[in-house]
Amino acid sequence: MRLFDLHCDTLCEGLHRNTSIHSNAGHVDLVRGARYDAWVQAYAAWIPDGLSVTEAQAECDALMDVFHRWTGKSLHRVTVADDLFATPAGMLTVENGGALGTDWEYIHSLYRRGVCMVGLTWNGDNHWGSGCFGSDEGLTAAGRQALSVLEQFGTVVDVAHLNRPGFWQVVKEARRPFAVSHTAADALCPHPRNLTYDQFCAVRDRGGVVGLTLYPEHLGGSDFETIRRHLEHFLSLNGERTICFGADFDGMTAPAEWNGIAVYERLYRYLSDCGWNPQTLDAVFYTNARDFFLRYWEQTIRNEE
Ligand SMILES: [Zn+2]
Repeated sequence: MRLFDLHCDTLCEGLHRNTSIHSNAGHVDLVRGARYDAWVQAYAAWIPDGLSVTEAQAECDALMDVFHRWTGKSLHRVTVADDLFATPAGMLTVENGGALGTDWEYIHSLYRRGVCMVGLTWNGDNHWGSGCFGSDEGLTAAGRQALSVLEQFGTVVDVAHLNRPGFWQVVKEARRPFAVSHTAADALCPHPRNLTYDQFCAVRDRGGVVGLTLYPEHLGGSDFETIRRHLEHFLSLNGERTICFGADFDGMTAPAEWNGIAVYERLYRYLSDCGWNPQTLDAVFYTNARDFFLRYWEQTIRNEE
């Protein structure tokens, strides 16, 4: 089976606990990923709320250094569309881009340093807008500018964690499809981090992708049936090209028996036993996310001036 996962916080483990990507006691490593015929994993440089811009940029730089140390020989680095066909492959993303401020030179440098996707906020308020536990305001003027700057570079905008007013502003102002890297269905587990029916349909209609988190707190359970109900809910909303995974491994508490990233193998078998056909399985576990980036980059006309 093939796997594409849109979000993990494993870089933080590498930076703050000095863990190895080859093998570690956390959720994601190359030994466990080797079971997949193809495996693309997005690695987020997560910046906490409340840092100064200088501190946020230093944290982001340090996390990106970990990514660049980990990638190369045994973990292929994704920078252009062709890299999506390498395995195992790592894609660099940023979570809480608005903590980095309004230094557009720095934001531009993210693209040059291989960042493929940027989440606008984390849970609180930052220079670009408000997260789902922040104020009720939408995007700031800087946030609207960030949206257009990122789109222009061909960096995917990720609205996971963004509050609902901000979400609808992105829907209104974005010129490109966008992603929700790790979330779940609000209809099944009401939570400010989860997508309502209208939100999911808006992402779908824009040609975006929605990664289902495996965080039990956001799913409302930690059994495979709960995961299946979220997936089938999104599929029932014509999400067969939209839904994929963004587990949030190393950023949440998961049942120990899942053994981190290895759980996908068992989940795949479970869904297959429930009658899912191989095409749907491959789409949700892999091709929906891959094809989203392929389409996005194919349609990117970079104007770097
Ligand atoms: Zn997150």
